[in-house]
Amino acid sequence: MRYQRPKGTADILPGDSELWQFVESTARAIFRTYRYQEIRTPMFESYDVFSRTSGDTSDIVTKEMYDFMDKGDRHLALRPEGTAGVVRAFIENKLYGPETQKPYKVYYMGPMFRYERPQSGRQRQFHQIGVEAFGSDDPALDVEVIAMGMQLLNELGLHDLKLVINTLGDADTRENYRQALINFLEPHFDELSEDSQNRLHKNPLRVLDSKDPKDQEFVADAPSILDFLTSEARSHFDQVEATLTALGIDFTVDPDMVRGLDYYNHTIFEIMSNSKSLGEGYTTVLAGGRYNGLVEELGGPEMAGVGFGMGIERVVLLMKDAGVTLPELDQLDVYVVGITEDTSAMTLQLTEAVRQAGMTADRDYLGRKAKAQFKTANKQNARYTMTVGDVELENRTVNLKLMATGEEIIVPVDAVFADFNRVLSDFADEE
Ligand code: ATP
Ligand code: MG
Repeated sequence: MRYQRPKGTADILPGDSELWQFVESTARAIFRTYRYQEIRTPMFESYDVFSRTSGDTSDIVTKEMYDFMDKGDRHLALRPEGTAGVVRAFIENKLYGPETQKPYKVYYMGPMFRYERPQSGRQRQFHQIGVEAFGSDDPALDVEVIAMGMQLLNELGLHDLKLVINTLGDADTRENYRQALINFLEPHFDELSEDSQNRLHKNPLRVLDSKDPKDQEFVADAPSILDFLTSEARSHFDQVEATLTALGIDFTVDPDMVRGLDYYNHTIFEIMSNSKSLGEGYTTVLAGGRYNGLVEELGGPEMAGVGFGMGIERVVLLMKDAGVTLPELDQLDVYVVGITEDTSAMTLQLTEAVRQAGMTADRDYLGRKAKAQFKTANKQNARYTMTVGDVELENRTVNLKLMATGEEIIVPVDAVFADFNRVLSDFADEE
């Protein structure tokens, strides 16, 4: 019996993990410049935290949640997305209070869980990097969040991207539009997919997000939410558009775009790629929007919010597809070769001394002959070899060789122990 990883999960192995670390460190560096700080929340929460926020008719709540009763009979769920937990933490820790600077800006990264049909760029355990900013209604903040997402993708070497935006307006907008949409879709009720039939009266906007081709045909002719915006909602969206333009960020407006979670209002956006590595057509890699009202929904005060989530798996697929190369990070500085068994303690001491000087070092652990050890050093592209035989052991010296030129020097062991950086700079001076 061989064990296999659960369906929809992946092992991220050395070779790939470097790429993941690069994505994460690039995100941290960019978020720092925008003054977003990291928040870490639990990987599971009360089921209600997600069901209240994502919406009863969302795919996440109806089909995708990993929920369970724990031994104390609590209904819990593995987090399907990051925002709800951050909002819960924001309220529970009273971060809305006057002690914290507003907007209160945080980011997170980590695994999310959704019971989905796995395919390229779609898993059951996947990973997101996301940001949230609380406490400002300013349309410029919507744009800052979008700009930050775009900059992140650009810095990761991804440029062939499309930004699509829309607005879901405010509560009045939604109420007016909701009725218009029901009126329009009702005559086609029998032809709609089962999901859409169920959702039409509960949440007709969900029908706009249907992936069923027939539903999509009707949706194409449906009234546009842009015709139902209140003047406040119109003004907010106009300012978002004008500010994006001022920043030189290209975008298109798609009035049919909704997003899979119910908590959004006003600006929503998706950054998409049509790379074949993610399947046919355009696939979203980073998405978000405004969620004024969500903090209240979970029991906090009235507080505006805006954020995005980015799927790391999809970004990594795009980076591979675009042939993004990373700076060489796993350079081996020194390979320590021991000629006889008696040298084992000394070679380990030397290896440790190099590491303590801040360089990378390794030695043999498989009892290989000197010749095989040199071969390993070559294969791993070691910059230097440091060799100890019986003679060197007797004299307390090592033979240090610069592999690129073949140049060698004899160095006292104590000099290596004292300051290996000094040894190297003296070596360089001699050349
Ligand atoms: P989709 O329409 O592709 O199902 P979604 O609207 O459910 O996406 P969001 O909840 O907005 O996705 O999540 C934001 C991002 O997280 C997505 O754009 C994607 O990059 C990533 N993502 C979402 N679900 C998955 C998944 N199952 N596997 C891998 N990445 C995912
Ligand atoms: Mg989804």
